[in-house]
Amino acid sequence: MTDQDNKVRLELNPELAEKAEYDQMTGCLTLKSFWSLTKTVLDSLDNDRKKDFVFFNIENFKVYNEEFGFDSGNDRICEFALLIVSHFPKRLVARAFGDQFYALVYDDELMLGIDGLNRDFCKKFVEFPSGLKIGIYAVGAELTDPSVACDHARTAGDSIKKQYGALYHVYDSEMDHLISEKRYIIENIDHAIEKGEIVVYYQPVIRTLTNEVCGMEALVRWEDPVKGIIMPNILIETLEDVQMIYKLDSYVIELVCRDYEMARQRNEELVPISVNLSRLDFELCNIFQIVDDTVRRHGVPKNMIHVEITESVFTRDPNFIKKYIREFHEAGYEVWMDDFGSGYSSLNTMKDYDFDVIKIDMLFLRSFNIKAKNIIISIVSMAKRIGIRTLAEGVETPEQMDFLRNAGCEKAQGYLIGRPQPYSITRRDLVNSGYTFEQEQLREYYDNLGLVNLLSNRPLEYDLSRADESDLSSEPMAGGIPIVLFEMVGERLHILQTNRAFRKTMSSIGPFSPRSIEFDMNDRSSDIYRKFRSFLEELREIRGIESFNYIVNGNYCLVRARCTSIIDGRSAYVATIENLSGKREHGDTGKLSEVMPVLCSMFDMITILDPEQNLEEIVYINSYFTLNRDMSVTLTSNLRNFKLHFVHPEDRERFDQTMDFTTLADRVVCSPNGEMDCLFRIRTSEQNYEWKNFTLIAMQKENTTRVLLCIYSAGNVSENPYEEVGIGALKPTVVKNLRDLSKVRRQLELASIRRDAGKKNE
Ligand code: C2E
Ligand code: CA
Ligand code: CA
Repeated sequence: MTDQDNKVRLELNPELAEKAEYDQMTGCLTLKSFWSLTKTVLDSLDNDRKKDFVFFNIENFKVYNEEFGFDSGNDRICEFALLIVSHFPKRLVARAFGDQFYALVYDDELMLGIDGLNRDFCKKFVEFPSGLKIGIYAVGAELTDPSVACDHARTAGDSIKKQYGALYHVYDSEMDHLISEKRYIIENIDHAIEKGEIVVYYQPVIRTLTNEVCGMEALVRWEDPVKGIIMPNILIETLEDVQMIYKLDSYVIELVCRDYEMARQRNEELVPISVNLSRLDFELCNIFQIVDDTVRRHGVPKNMIHVEITESVFTRDPNFIKKYIREFHEAGYEVWMDDFGSGYSSLNTMKDYDFDVIKIDMLFLRSFNIKAKNIIISIVSMAKRIGIRTLAEGVETPEQMDFLRNAGCEKAQGYLIGRPQPYSITRRDLVNSGYTFEQEQLREYYDNLGLVNLLSNRPLEYDLSRADESDLSSEPMAGGIPIVLFEMVGERLHILQTNRAFRKTMSSIGPFSPRSIEFDMNDRSSDIYRKFRSFLEELREIRGIESFNYIVNGNYCLVRARCTSIIDGRSAYVATIENLSGKREHGDTGKLSEVMPVLCSMFDMITILDPEQNLEEIVYINSYFTLNRDMSVTLTSNLRNFKLHFVHPEDRERFDQTMDFTTLADRVVCSPNGEMDCLFRIRTSEQNYEWKNFTLIAMQKENTTRVLLCIYSAGNVSENPYEEVGIGALKPTVVKNLRDLSKVRRQLELASIRRDAGKKNE
């Protein structure tokens, strides 16, 4: 113990020390005594050693009390007092209120003390992740009133509230300004509300998939005639401090509903508005009732108002807030978690609450390095798995927007799209920048599509109702599966989004880009057009996963898809594509080459007819046909030989008509699905004939059409389905299961009915 250390004590007037009052709980001085003692000390101490008033505070201590009770809270406060005293021995230490302490210390010992204190605090107070906040006021040349000095120290400490990682702050005169600002706010808030100086600014939110405006956030501003615009940060904090925040928030809801009502009267496109609620709103009033009453009074649909609750609200007492979320939900409001990732809640706790959307804190975009990007990707993936949508805040650059879109983050908000502005200006700017507004009926439609995880290995299987534990645990985030999201608007197919694997696969098959694929898919004359459309029809019907394969540039591609949403005139899909032949090239022996001979043996013959060149290219032919067939090069002679060798005499005329190769390609192309099916009796031994299916499929390539002919058994056909209706009924059928003769028959019946009807009309 040095002389200097003792100075404070020694120079104390023993009488005064005797009279001093002590805080019963911690044994520290009371604030009043602290003030009078520090005054004496300051008056009498040597002036060459600088001194500081220091304010200590545990952030969010209140929450601890709520969770663990006051007794336990008091114990922690006592431990905290001991910790301060032990790091600033022999100094005057007082407890002011709750977990707030003051000390008078020498400046040269300050940093060492703070360092040690913080180290111990982090070790012993792990339940307080928001940490310790310290404010410092350096005593100047002129004597300071200790109560003012304490105020300053506290102001400095409070100035780093909610700043993660900030431990201490030194008071400067700027903070005087802050204090007077706060005082001004408290004294004038009621007046400001009355005079209409409190206004709401609106910041747009867009859907990354469509780039359409899908919402706006209401952010409060105080347009003060003297001070100019007072920003929400200081406004909210001050009003929270004095527990008046609910007044402001209630009023903001009122303004939002009024703006909504007026916009509706002007017949403007309307998008949902989200409003911010403070944690204290839940404690100080029945904020749900206030919101609900206001919304009803203005006749605003509940699904047009969302409430944002900041993440820090959820860090501690889950049950407290759960109840309110449920209340809002049951009434039909969406509840969004604001500032996700700014605090300490883990992804795990996310699922304990019933959120519709989480807003990823802008902190992540601000750093925007590999680490931050990975965190965003994880948050988005995890959220999708549990059926929560995501929004990223603070988007300022096109690169950030691209990244978010690719990561599958559904919504974005930030200066890139628009700053908060009064309603009319926000709207005007959006329109001027070419933005359109999402129609109401499309909201759910896109929300469903938005749950598809573009980075997943099992994007199709995802379905909330079926998600079970194994679903959640077994899905690595590889992003290696080629995925495309697209929609049909009327007859037009639009590609909404592709992931990198998709673009890579498509460019390995040919010179395909999402744009060129979109073009081909909408080109009625293209080979794939009709087939793909009927595939989509099937997807819409079954609402499950279906596959579809086709050959492009010699690649066997397998497409698997699911329809995610349907509304009038519109449907959305997610699909994966796999290039099976590509696999073979890459050293995989390939399932396809293995099954190909088996597949072929199901047919009697597979051959490509090229009517334009009058050529035939045989792909596969069974031995019976080979032995008994005179092979030539020209298609004409081949068909004639084939007819004479194999086709039943009664079917030959029909065969000639069907195979008339001057019109064959056109007829096949014009058939439903670009596919034509018919049956012929084919000789299979000297005396025997069997019904065979002839499936003709159009194959278009570079303006020429070739026809793939597959011949295979039709099973047992007891009577001639063509008999009653005759040759005239030789129409292509749309039968899928070619063995299903009853369908063929029904087709033929329909044809004859139609023909009869036609005759009657004549
Ligand atoms: P917040 O809810 O996280 O709102 C987003 C804040 O980020 C807004 O600040 C907005 O102007 C700002 N911001 C938006 N895009 C960008 C961007 O691209 N870059 C950057 N650097 N900033 C961006 P603002 O309006 O000052 O609001 C601050 C906070 O005040 C809000 O944070 C919210 O927590 C609170 N607040 C605002 N209005 C209300 C209200 O009516 N009631 C309550 N309880 N809190 C409110
Ligand atoms: Ca917000
Ligand atoms: Ca936020």
